[in-house]
Amino acid sequence: MTSTPFDLRDRVAIVTGGNGGIGLGMALGLARGNATVVVVGRNAAKNAQALDVLRKANPGVEPFALTADVTQEDDCAAFVARTLERYGRIDALVNNAGTNFRKPPQDYSLDEWHKLIDANLTSAFLCSRAVHAPMAKARRGKIVNIGSMTSIFGASFAGPYGAAKGGMVQFTKATAVAWAADNIQVNAVLPGWIDTELTQQARKDVPGLHDSVVARTPTGRWGVPEDFAGIAVFLASPASDFITGAAIPVDGGYSSHI
Ligand code: NDP
Repeated sequence: MTSTPFDLRDRVAIVTGGNGGIGLGMALGLARGNATVVVVGRNAAKNAQALDVLRKANPGVEPFALTADVTQEDDCAAFVARTLERYGRIDALVNNAGTNFRKPPQDYSLDEWHKLIDANLTSAFLCSRAVHAPMAKARRGKIVNIGSMTSIFGASFAGPYGAAKGGMVQFTKATAVAWAADNIQVNAVLPGWIDTELTQQARKDVPGLHDSVVARTPTGRWGVPEDFAGIAVFLASPASDFITGAAIPVDGGYSSHI
């Protein structure tokens, strides 16, 4: 059978935060593209539910899940080691896990600042560093970092989150440059406003958010997790081998709208 540039057969892709929201949308794309998906999340019950969804999407490839907190160095090393023990390879890593709680910048405690930087930026450093050696040894790898519209724009209620997501783009560029000679491509995806648990809370915290997003987004709707299935396949597959260090909005045109 002739393979297409999007074929992920025999490839192993780890998705942090792959048990829900955007991460599960990306995991679904990867699974349908025939990748073996490894879901990483803290909540074992959510991990198990995600595996059921992935098995239904493609009964031909068995997914796997590992419980880990991506803010913990030992957890990151452990999920990478367990994936390598089981499959002997890691072809793609999606650094998607993240969280936010919203208030004006002056109201965050130092502890809250550190929590948000750790969850949204340090986690990508820890996971990327953990996969670098096996990917470099294999002389092939794909890393996809999830940024945000706050990687580009300021949001009054997202000081530490925006600092982390802006940093994610620069970390993407730095690792793309550093690891290009290892044949590892590193890119960022910048979601617009997507309907997930995270933004269900945002819509409670920020009055008028739902309608202002619809009005500002040229496609006239909120995104859904499955809007990320295609970009996940593209950035994890040989189709994107000459693309590295890019930050690609998946936002219905939100960031193009003045
Ligand atoms: P959800 O809250 O729906 O999902 C977050 C996921 O991250 C869950 O699977 C959660 O699993 C996991 N997670 C969170 N913290 C950790 C941790 N410390 N260790 C391991 N896993 C963790 O959010 P979204 O799907 O909306 O967001 C996914 C990514 O997209 C985040 O990086 C977010 O910042 C970004 N994003 C989202 C946007 C949106 O509009 N929804 C817009 C722009 C960016 P568990 O609880 O089991 O650990």
